[in-house]
Amino acid sequence: MAALLSSGLEYHAVGFTLVRSKGNGDGADSFCYGSVAMPAIYFDGRHHRVQSAGSTADNGLASEQMNRKEFLGRFLLWSTAGAAWLRLASTSAAEDAGTWKVALLADTHIPADPVESYRGFQPVENLKTVAPQILDSEAQAVFLLGDAARLAGLPGDYERLEQLLSPIAARVPVVIGLGNHDDRDNFFRRFPVERSPGEHPGVPGKHVTIVEHPVLRVVMLDSLLYVNKVAGLLGKVQRAWLERWLPISSDRPLVLMVHHTLGDGDSDLLDVDRLMAMVKRHEHVKAIFYGHSHRYAVEQRDGLQLVNLAACGYNFSDQEPVGWTLARFDKSGVDLTLHAIGGNRRQDGHTQRVNWLR
Ligand SMILES: [Zn+2]
Repeated sequence: MAALLSSGLEYHAVGFTLVRSKGNGDGADSFCYGSVAMPAIYFDGRHHRVQSAGSTADNGLASEQMNRKEFLGRFLLWSTAGAAWLRLASTSAAEDAGTWKVALLADTHIPADPVESYRGFQPVENLKTVAPQILDSEAQAVFLLGDAARLAGLPGDYERLEQLLSPIAARVPVVIGLGNHDDRDNFFRRFPVERSPGEHPGVPGKHVTIVEHPVLRVVMLDSLLYVNKVAGLLGKVQRAWLERWLPISSDRPLVLMVHHTLGDGDSDLLDVDRLMAMVKRHEHVKAIFYGHSHRYAVEQRDGLQLVNLAACGYNFSDQEPVGWTLARFDKSGVDLTLHAIGGNRRQDGHTQRVNWLR
């Protein structure tokens, strides 16, 4: 799954066509985006469940006997071509103000052993420190940009991660992307997606999540190539999906999130040139957020803002902060506030405005 989710907050779908599904006759709604009917994924505790929506073969949400109010009271994920699609439209004042506040985490590197340390940092303690800060920030969602697990994505790592994130996931969606220290199979065993028979397998072998908010759409890509080796790759199938999908998602700004760095080294995203060539043709793509380097930096390339998030688990250099970032997105850009809990804390609390360049 992409996310840990819970019920309890009032969310509703905004900015999309809400249509009555045909033929089920019991008052349940299904959703369509444009003319494309897609399976819906919703969350039941820590399990994601996927159902086809609006298809004749499957009554979709109707089979859950949910009325519209119940349906809208849940967090929703939609899946198209394998991408889980989370529609996040809260009724909060922040939404009314045209902003979306989210917490950004990268490289948590959580081990099963709570006292394991690296370079003097204890990743488990770091996340224990950060979790209440995120809750206090009233972030409406959390994104973790990969390397969630310590080194090899072991089952115990994800068990610990789930334990640490549960207080947050009880309040807001937590969307987890995969990095080179994650193991896709172990990840899904801990955070399973339950798919209904016939549900589209999506981007085969990859874990892509789309999150929607009225001010922004986020696509969490999957650059995990080899577990516990440094290089990353989106791969042709994922790129081809993105190529097809970007033109139909141009109704609002979009940012991509991915674990790997965007350079030309052997440890970077190996198909970064193909990605950049693609996204620079789509002006609604405003930024790429990534992790991997354990550095905090913002730079510009080809009309895009490139935001390298600080690591939460540990830094590789004393010059770099360790912590997380609060992002307040609006239509024209994002305010990024660094929360440094270790390493170089000089920029702790500093807010940087990043305007979209196109
Ligand atoms: Zn890392």
